[in-house]
Amino acid sequence: MAVERTHDVLIFGTGLAGLRAAVEIARRSEGKIDMGLVSKVQLMRAHSGAAEGGTAAVLYPEEGDSFDLHSWDTVKGSDFLADQDVIDRFVHLCPQELLLLDHWGIPWSRYEDGRIQQRPFGGHSYPRATMAADKTGFMEMQTLYDTLVQWKNFTRYDEVFATAILVEDGKFAGLASIDPFTGELLILRAKALIICSGGAGTLYGFTTYAQTVSGDGLAYAYRTGAIPLEDMEFLQFHPTGLVPSGILMTEGCRGEGGYLRNSEGERFLDKYAPEKMELAPRDIISRAMITEILEGRGIEGPGGLDHLWLDLTHLGADKINRRLPTIREVCMKFLGLDPILKPIPVRPVAHYSMGGIEADINGQTRVPNIWVAGEAACHSLHGANRLGTNSTAECLVWGFITGEEVCKFMETNPELPGLSEAAVQAEEKRLFEDMLQRDGTENPYDIRRELRATMDQHVGVYRDGEELAAGLEKVKALRQRFDNIKLEDRGRVYNTNLFHALEIENLLDLAQVMITGALARTESRGGHSRRDYTERDDDNWLKHTLAWKEGDGVKLDYSSVTITKWKPVERKY
Ligand SMILES: Cc1cc2nc3c(=O)[nH]c(=O)nc-3n(C[C@H](O)[C@H](O)[C@H](O)COP(=O)(O)OP(=O)(O)OC[C@H]3O[C@@H](n4cnc5c(N)ncnc54)[C@H](O)[C@@H]3O)c2cc1C
Repeated sequence: MAVERTHDVLIFGTGLAGLRAAVEIARRSEGKIDMGLVSKVQLMRAHSGAAEGGTAAVLYPEEGDSFDLHSWDTVKGSDFLADQDVIDRFVHLCPQELLLLDHWGIPWSRYEDGRIQQRPFGGHSYPRATMAADKTGFMEMQTLYDTLVQWKNFTRYDEVFATAILVEDGKFAGLASIDPFTGELLILRAKALIICSGGAGTLYGFTTYAQTVSGDGLAYAYRTGAIPLEDMEFLQFHPTGLVPSGILMTEGCRGEGGYLRNSEGERFLDKYAPEKMELAPRDIISRAMITEILEGRGIEGPGGLDHLWLDLTHLGADKINRRLPTIREVCMKFLGLDPILKPIPVRPVAHYSMGGIEADINGQTRVPNIWVAGEAACHSLHGANRLGTNSTAECLVWGFITGEEVCKFMETNPELPGLSEAAVQAEEKRLFEDMLQRDGTENPYDIRRELRATMDQHVGVYRDGEELAAGLEKVKALRQRFDNIKLEDRGRVYNTNLFHALEIENLLDLAQVMITGALARTESRGGHSRRDYTERDDDNWLKHTLAWKEGDGVKLDYSSVTITKWKPVERKY
């Protein structure tokens, strides 16, 4: 029997976006709006805590930075696919967010004179990466949580695994989930939902993401059939993943002056981005690195992970210890290598989902009582390529905006939407009679491994039609094999085997969406670079991809890009 709990508002995910939304709702309603906070891991363990390098904001306009400059950098970084009205709103709200965190006690790194310090970051033409050494996300999470606990109007559902977003009569009606401690179906009902469930970074094997980042919220929104996923073919490869683990070596390494070198010791970026060099955007540097490796100037690495060098040795011990302590610690612990003395082996690594759940500028989806914020969302802020530090900033800004919007919605005294018993029973049957009892011959973890290998191999930094089509066939075959899995654990209590199976099912759906979109987009733009269509094609492809679920397949549709100030021009760095 399902257990039911009701709140005014549910926040699905407690990373930076979810916590910021919760703080906004708490302080605006002075603790009157009752919230449920759902996280499949302990609240503070969201991937946001791993963010290293910084958060973007124009803090010093008197010294030469400006909103226009931050906007232009983001527009150009996006390869002109971002919506410019969204960018404009974003850049104006970033400073407020960082100053609020400052008031709430975050230990920002500071200049000698006490002002908040900022460092350079890729694609930004002004140093506007605001940081707490290289532990920015962790400090932001901690500060938001400390601020939230002043209020008592929330219930934590830690380690509760959401399984479906239930939409009835065009409205959000409930979040189905499993209480791990009892193994019961837990139906969380509310008048409004904010999805803050993060990206889908573990679609790939070589990734910077925590194993928990499996795109669950994206898959659930997609399966409602009422909300499309947008621009999912744009997946960011970060240039510097540590070989062989994939752990992120923050762009802050290059922001602090680090170099990239090939096997001949050359700073090869002068061939690809002569002006910006190591501080060009991620898509451009990742392509340059793969080209260097393919042309034989890489260094042989374990498991086929050929690499280049990230060289910090000229920065000196003091700078590395003060500004990049985590980087040094990770290199020493994982490789026994001290970056003060030796260069770090790195290669491009799957990092960020530019696409996500379609939403308008207020974070509202096509289901009027569902909002979305953070990496799960596609407000069309990043277009075809995100600039570093714009993501934590996005989480804060749309945490704030969606929190505010939901408060306004609550003032209209909405009723609790109805939820049919049939929908609850169907979910219970799906989880506990179908999935949990699967007794086939396939090991779900083999399927996950093969899926990730497929994505690594077929949907990488460079793509082409044949490879993508072959990748899609492999994913479809894996999807069929998934019907025939066997779960080793049939118990109800804390069944991580079941949770993993559900995550793998989500990844399979998202892989299909991504590749379908990538195959259709016959151009190269930002993070989507095709060898068979090497040019950007504004005449035909200056548009957003929308993916709808249609039976077992994906139906593609397109929407227009909002261009206000900047007409697309050639993108050079
Ligand atoms: C290593 C690393 C470093 C980064 N560094 C930077 C940086 O310096 N600057 C920057 O701007 N960006 C950075 N990024 C990107 C940025 O950190 C993320 O995009 C951002 O933190 C995502 O936050 P979020 O709140 O959207 O989601 P997350 O922090 O990923 O949180 C997702 C939440 O959803 C919950 N959830 C998901 N599925 C379920 C489910 N089925 N049931 C219940 N709960 C669920 C999770 O438990 C979690 O609470 C970095 C990313 C990584 C991986």
